[in-house]
Amino acid sequence: MAPSCSPINSLHVAVIGAGAAGLVAARELRRESHSVVVFERNTEVGGLWVYTPQSEPDPLSLDPNRTVVHSSVYDSLRTNLPRECMGYSDFPFVPRPEHDESRDPRRYPTHREVLAYLRDFAREFKLVEMVRFGTEVVLVEQDGRKWKIRSRNSDGVSRNEIFDSVVVCNGHYTEPRVAQIPGIDLWPGKQLHSHNYRVPDPFKDQVVVVIGNFASGSDISKDLTGVAKEVHIAARSKPSETYEKLPGADNLWLHPMIETACKDGSIVFKNGKVVQADTIVHCTGYIYHFPFLNTNGYITVDDNCVGPLYKHVFPPALAPGLSFIGLPWMTLLFTLFELQSKWVAAVLSGRVTLPSEDKMMEDTNALYAKRDANGFPKRYTHRLGVVGQAEYLNWIADQIGEPPVEQWRNKELEDGYVRLATQSDTFRDKWDDDHLIAEAYEDFLRHKLISVIPSQIFG
Ligand code: FAD
Repeated sequence: MAPSCSPINSLHVAVIGAGAAGLVAARELRRESHSVVVFERNTEVGGLWVYTPQSEPDPLSLDPNRTVVHSSVYDSLRTNLPRECMGYSDFPFVPRPEHDESRDPRRYPTHREVLAYLRDFAREFKLVEMVRFGTEVVLVEQDGRKWKIRSRNSDGVSRNEIFDSVVVCNGHYTEPRVAQIPGIDLWPGKQLHSHNYRVPDPFKDQVVVVIGNFASGSDISKDLTGVAKEVHIAARSKPSETYEKLPGADNLWLHPMIETACKDGSIVFKNGKVVQADTIVHCTGYIYHFPFLNTNGYITVDDNCVGPLYKHVFPPALAPGLSFIGLPWMTLLFTLFELQSKWVAAVLSGRVTLPSEDKMMEDTNALYAKRDANGFPKRYTHRLGVVGQAEYLNWIADQIGEPPVEQWRNKELEDGYVRLATQSDTFRDKWDDDHLIAEAYEDFLRHKLISVIPSQIFG
């Protein structure tokens, strides 16, 4: 659909969060002539990538009244995708400046490099001037055709303000999902969620069971092997007879899920193996959480499906005043944030129109029906996957007159996920897709986004 040439509406828009999603949302909204206030409860930009050694006092984060620590980043974290495909379209995530030793030029850099990139992005596009730091949004609700936001600053002072529109970019890796384990109430060991894991030192000489074998589970178990006595991964996706000694360490084993936890401290896996464990680390993901949102029950989070949402962004009955950036997963996240933001900005200005509420609802119900027919649980509603993500991103690009996502970018994601699954101990340092790196950098040069190809980018 080509954007229309009707006059532009300039609205007063609130963005919640100054992470990778909120920053690009603010930029795109301002580019589309909206006036923007970004509410950020932290004291700096970067969201999840602002590492802190602090974790929450409640190690499973079950207490609703706990002091929330936003970031889930652990000290040793390096990105799980190649940097070329992670950046925004016109501000590539390349090593810069080239000779600054505080920066990490590797293809899979540390979390500090991602934060440095986001700070560079905010500086380059003068985004910080739109952000109200130390200000938490505590309530969002409709006020006639507008939206009321109640915020609280670091001195505890509350303020109500009215906006034409609210764009929610609060991040989705802070509210843990914890595995249900038969017998766990009587098991005497310690438990924590990966949200509260920072460094391996506290687990010295322990026997640790790590639940989950995707990105965080795999990283954290490897981190632990350096100090722990034994590390046992429990993977839900593995057949019940699984029992493997994993490469890269002499104290790391892979099992299927836990059968039961016992009051004598033992953990029994579905393969029949038994270990006396000190600690269980739940690397079991996160849930969407919008504690500030009051839509009188219209928007719900049911088994991690946020709905109803047209194309994961607009609630049909509340669109376009309320929108959500960044809900989908298994995708090129920064690209998704950018395209969704451009779409929201263009819809708000009237340059692009949405279908009627009924049509949006029909489309949303069709998505749910397809999900159910394919046998996926509700919690997979926002999972795009390798094929679905390219289709989805290109659909949004088409709505706003942007070119489709580059082939090399999609292929880097696809190959990156395969490497992550098949060579989890080496994927960040060994690859065989230098041709994709070359294509990416040629693209950056052609579009004058860089002036030279930095040294040391090939493996
Ligand atoms: P966040 O970065 O979480 O930012 C949300 C912001 O909203 C925060 O600054 C928060 O303080 C603020 N906020 C929240 N609530 C309020 C409120 N009520 N009022 C005011 N402010 C509020 N993605 C990749 O592309 N590559 C990777 O390698 C990668 N690795 C990851 C590793 C881990 C361990 C995790 C958990 C995620 C990883 N991701 C990765 C995904 C990552 O979450 C996204 O890349 C992205 O940074 C998320 O950006 P966001 O803006 O949506 O959320």
